[in-house]
Amino acid sequence: MSEPRPPQPKPLPQPEPLAKPYWDSLNAGALQLQRCDRCERFVFYPRALCPHCGSRALTWRRVSGRGRLHTFCIPYRHPSPAFQPDLPYVVAQVELDEGVRMMTNLVGVEPDPARLMPLIDKPVEIVYEKVNDQITLPKFRPV
Ligand SMILES: [Zn+2]
Repeated sequence: MSEPRPPQPKPLPQPEPLAKPYWDSLNAGALQLQRCDRCERFVFYPRALCPHCGSRALTWRRVSGRGRLHTFCIPYRHPSPAFQPDLPYVVAQVELDEGVRMMTNLVGVEPDPARLMPLIDKPVEIVYEKVNDQITLPKFRPV
């Protein structure tokens, strides 16, 4: 009989300098997004240029962390052993009140399509999942 393998750590984000304010804000329990000074639209993910108008004038702004569930899927298998203990879980796309969409996890609800379908387009709010001193992940839960 073989010993059970120790749990494998999940791969973590490797923040680039451009995205440092985003990751710093999550570590501080807040959400910051870039907003274009020229066309006044929010931008996500962090970038050097506004994808709407090409301006380089992007300013970090604190936002509410509220939005609506746009869509979801439920993985039942994962190629990495690190994710096996979590299966199944909810991968979600959330449309923030600022008009940008984030890929995230929906937590606080069973990973069951019958429970999730009624939540489409319903309000969700951010929860901050601290992984270590450098990384806090933004997840969302139904309001
Ligand atoms: Zn712009």
